[in-house]
Amino acid sequence: MRPLKDLVRRNIWDLRPYSSARDEYKGVGARVFLDANESPFNSPLNRYPDPLQRELKGVLSGIKGVPAECIFLGNGSDEAIDLVYRIFCEPGVDNVVSVAPTYGMYRVAADVNGVAFREVLLGDDFGLDSRRLLDVVDERTKVVFLCSPNNPTGNVLSREEIVKVLEGFGGIVVVDEAYGDFSVHRSMRASLGDFPNLVVLNTMSKAWASAGIRLGMAFAGAEIIGLFNKVKYPYNISVLTQKAALEVLGRKYDVAGWVRDTLRERDSLMRAFAELPLCVRVFPTDANFFLARVCDADAVYGYLVERGVVVRNRSSVVLCGDCLRITVGNSHENSVLLGALRLYKMN
Ligand code: PMP
Repeated sequence: MRPLKDLVRRNIWDLRPYSSARDEYKGVGARVFLDANESPFNSPLNRYPDPLQRELKGVLSGIKGVPAECIFLGNGSDEAIDLVYRIFCEPGVDNVVSVAPTYGMYRVAADVNGVAFREVLLGDDFGLDSRRLLDVVDERTKVVFLCSPNNPTGNVLSREEIVKVLEGFGGIVVVDEAYGDFSVHRSMRASLGDFPNLVVLNTMSKAWASAGIRLGMAFAGAEIIGLFNKVKYPYNISVLTQKAALEVLGRKYDVAGWVRDTLRERDSLMRAFAELPLCVRVFPTDANFFLARVCDADAVYGYLVERGVVVRNRSSVVLCGDCLRITVGNSHENSVLLGALRLYKMN
C-alpha cells in the first residue's frame, strides 16, 4: 500500500475537524449539561447523541469481530461510500475503478464528487478478473470498489481475485458486503489485519431488517477510520437510530431465523421461477435477491406493476439485458408474485 498520506486529499489530511461539546467533555459523573445549547425539555431526545456511538460500537465489535476503533458508523453505508470519495479523491484529478454491473451508488457518488469513474466488465458468470481490473488502474486511481455478493447479479466475487486486487493495487480497496450475512462465504472483515488498504462495508438494511433506521458501517484500520470520523458530520447517527440498532442487535437469534427463512424462501422461489414459461435463466445467488433473464423484461415488469407487484427492472444495465432483479419476500409476497407470473401470457 502507498503511504496513507499520499492517498488522502491534502485538505483532508490537514483538516482540523469540528470539535463538538460532547467531544470536548471527557469526564464522568457530570450531572448538569449546559455545554451544547440543548433544551432542558423533552428528555431524552433533547440531548445530542454520542458522536462516536461508543455503546453501539461496543456491541458491534463483539458481533463483527472487529475492534471498536476500527468501526465507522454512517447514515446507511451510502454515507461511507460518499466519505471514501471525499477523503481520498481530488475532484477533477483522481479516479476510481469498479466493475460493471454493480451497485449504482459508486458511480453516482463519483459524479457528485466530480471524480472519474472507470468500470471493467465482469466476466463469465459475472466473475471478477483481477488482471483486467488492475490493467485499468493508473497513478491517479485512489480507490477500487468491489461488491460481494454483488448487486444486481447476486454472486460472490472470488476471494482469490479480491486478494490479488488488494495485493496488486497500492490504493484503497472497498469491499461492500451489504449482503454478506446471507452468504456462507467468509467475510473479508477477518482479513483486515492482513491488508492495510482494505475497507469493508456492512449495513443494518438487509439481513438485520432495519433499512428504515439508516445505519451502515465501514471496517478498516484505525488510521483510516480516524479519517472517516474527522470528515463526518459530528452527530451523524441519531439517538433514535442508535437505540433501534441496539435493540435489533440484541435479537440476533431472531435475525438468524429471518436469514434462514429468507434463504429457504429464496430456494423455493427460484425453483418455481425457473419453471415459468417466461423464464430464460435464473442466475445463482448468495444474497436475498436473484437476477433472472426473462422473455421481454420490460413487458413482464409492466405487467407486474399493473398487478401491484414491483420488482427491479435491470434490463438497461450492461450484461443484464432482459433481466429482472427479484427480492425474496415472505411466503405470501412470493406466492403473489408467482401467482401473477403464472397467469402471464407471452406474445
Ligand atoms: N451496498 C449495496 C451493495 C447495496 O445494494 C445497498 C442498498 N441497496 C447499499 C450498499 C446501501 O445500503 P444502506 O441502506 O446501508 O445505505
